[in-house]
Amino acid sequence: MFADRAKIYIRSGKGGDGHCSFRRELYVPNGGPDGGDGGRGGDLIFEVDEGLNTLADYRHKRKYAAGDGEQGGKRRCHGKDGKDLILKVPEGTVIKEAASGKVIADMSGENRRQVVLKGGKGGLGNQHFATATMQVPKYAQPGQPAKELEVNLELKVIADVGLIGFPNVGKSTLLSRVTNAEPKIANYHFTTLNPNLGVVDLDGANGFVMADIPGLIEGASDGVGLGHEFLRHIERTKMMIHVVDAAGSEGRDPVEDIYKINAELEAYNPEVAKRPQVIAANKTDLIYREGEEDPVERLESEFEPKGIRVFPISGATGKGISELLYYVSRRLDSMDDSPVRFEQEYFPEDELIYEELPYTVEREDDVYVVEGPKIEKMLGYTNLDSEKGFAFFQKFLKETGILDELEAAGIQEGDTVKMYGLQFDYYK
Ligand code: GDP
Ligand code: MG
Repeated sequence: MFADRAKIYIRSGKGGDGHCSFRRELYVPNGGPDGGDGGRGGDLIFEVDEGLNTLADYRHKRKYAAGDGEQGGKRRCHGKDGKDLILKVPEGTVIKEAASGKVIADMSGENRRQVVLKGGKGGLGNQHFATATMQVPKYAQPGQPAKELEVNLELKVIADVGLIGFPNVGKSTLLSRVTNAEPKIANYHFTTLNPNLGVVDLDGANGFVMADIPGLIEGASDGVGLGHEFLRHIERTKMMIHVVDAAGSEGRDPVEDIYKINAELEAYNPEVAKRPQVIAANKTDLIYREGEEDPVERLESEFEPKGIRVFPISGATGKGISELLYYVSRRLDSMDDSPVRFEQEYFPEDELIYEELPYTVEREDDVYVVEGPKIEKMLGYTNLDSEKGFAFFQKFLKETGILDELEAAGIQEGDTVKMYGLQFDYYK
């Protein structure tokens, strides 16, 4: 199956919660806090695997999660870190955030490994929260949450030159003739379903990588359009060899064919449509002229004035191919060498902000529940049993605006306020 794209759901590991416990020793009634820290959540990492050339694996399984960090334990026991999850992809895979289509990572060139979602940090155990005034901290920090994201994986072949053209015009034949690649060659309309790459070696000139790009989806009867499946691969190439059946052996008009394909390119991505092209007028061995206009001349007079060179070739006999290849090599020499790369536009670390409202106040009948990380932390530090601690707590409620919120929510004297296991009646 043709698998150059997949949509998957990824998740990093949650950080383990810190633990809350106290030392128990014989004859010591109240030992100090000894709750250990939670382990770090695993990262979700993408890595290039040279052995892969499709995304087929990602079509069977759609959910991928790194390991969660374990909770801290008693006696300062540190929770185990969650396992990282490494997802192997073929070189040239571009990872995009599914909703916006923004690029998160381009797994090509130097970029062999990228942490896409970082695991949550583990929470601190209550051992860290003991202070001179607060000897029995009942607070341990929760681990940071996991991060999750839906992403599209798109494999974009990396090649200097892409072969484009209708099915059966001879792209695969040309590739197999000039490179070590072994594409499938057949006379039917769904031949090349996976992109094939091959290296063109030239005597006395620079070689290049050529890709036979997946052809049209079958359906010639109802006015075939180029699928995006096909077009996606062209985005990386610097130049295109536009192969056309100059002999019109399937009854199509070569000049029209070129315009049709270029119109599709333009519609898909005008940037790509602007890249240099050269026309390989193929199957010239099948041209029999009997008073008709030479199709190669028609192509030349149509496209050469537009700066597009036309090379008559035959994939079957090899005629004209070397002129074409040397010309392509020279054109490539004059271009920037760096392959087309996709810049990162989406940064999961910045985008996935968890609602860290300082607190929320919710009413459940006559009970008002106040929650928020800041409050949780404060409760860990504060000894409410001491007079000083309680005064501090009251001041905190006032200064943070929690009291106002409670009033706004309609609290009455004698109603109950609940905060992380702490419960008290409200009096002004
Ligand atoms: P693709 O769909 O563009 O990859 O086309 P293929 O390379 O699979 O070729 C389609 C058919 O055209 C095959 O039967 C080839 O043998 C044939 N073919 C390709 N190039 C030539 C050529 O230059 N001359 C002739 N006579 N046949 C060719
Ligand atoms: Mg083919």
